[in-house]
Amino acid sequence: MKIAILSRNRQLYSTRRLIEAAEARGHEVRVLDVLRCYMNITSHRPSIHYRGEELETFDVVIPRIGASVTFYGTSVLRQFEMMGTFPLNESVAIARSRDKLRALQLLSRRGIGLPVTGFANKPDDIQDLIKMVGGAPLVIKLLQGTQGIGVVLAETRKAAESVIESFLGLNASVLVQEYIKEAGGADIRCFVIGDRVVASMKRQAREGEFRSNIHRGGSASLIKITPEERSTAVRAAQTMGLNVCGVDILRSNHGPVVMEVNSSPGLEGIETVTSKDVSGQIITWLEKHHKYGKTRTKGTG
Ligand code: ADP
Ligand code: MG
Repeated sequence: MKIAILSRNRQLYSTRRLIEAAEARGHEVRVLDVLRCYMNITSHRPSIHYRGEELETFDVVIPRIGASVTFYGTSVLRQFEMMGTFPLNESVAIARSRDKLRALQLLSRRGIGLPVTGFANKPDDIQDLIKMVGGAPLVIKLLQGTQGIGVVLAETRKAAESVIESFLGLNASVLVQEYIKEAGGADIRCFVIGDRVVASMKRQAREGEFRSNIHRGGSASLIKITPEERSTAVRAAQTMGLNVCGVDILRSNHGPVVMEVNSSPGLEGIETVTSKDVSGQIITWLEKHHKYGKTRTKGTG
């Protein structure tokens, strides 16, 4: 296969491992900085230009699009799709999962376990919003946050009210969510490829912190997941339409609940903790499933 990897930095662990895994299997790989790609969108023959030249055609494109470049990145990916290149994850599926609210709405429609969640832009009645999701303690999240930044635990109703008020005062949209205390500061990252969880790990928040993000000092370890957690992760991936993703699950009293679905899951943590060749499995999956012009949502937005 001729593979394009959309990544801003070829030195990143995930990018390096994907290049290694692909080349080891005899594939040709080119890394492209998505922000350097530009296109003529009115042309009848879709193409992409890169640093002054027209790009050759690729069989497969692996998007590793950072949260800060979702909008432009998914537009470039869509152009690849229009040219018939098979994407590891489709542009529409990535956009869907990046919008936390849209993702939760789609997951809830499929009956997938979720923390009780409310959403507001400018509620006239913050107290009613808090009551609606079961009262304090509550987790309040900025819609655009990543790596645990913008996620706050409000222990009391008073604290919840003032945090929500200040976020809304800054014109930020917020999610207000039931606090899953019984998870004990731990969550489970399930790495899904196709219709299987190929690896999973537990992330534990450091002492005195409820957010398990590695960037917030959390630590990762091996975990054995239950069949229910496994099927929840696979159903969440399918609902988002993602072939490869990281599904983050909390163990709650009412079963596994999905917190978020990550369309560009990092490989370093999961490969280190599990000693599994996840990168190799991604390439093997592509060998089996890639097909010219097989983007399901092609042309439908
Ligand atoms: P981000 O996108 O910034 O990673 P998350 O929604 O994943 O935001 O939240 C960050 C961390 O906070 C999670 O990994 C989890 O450990 C903790 N967390 C988030 N929501 C809840 C919740 N409803 N109950 C308990 N812990 C939570
Ligand atoms: Mg997270």
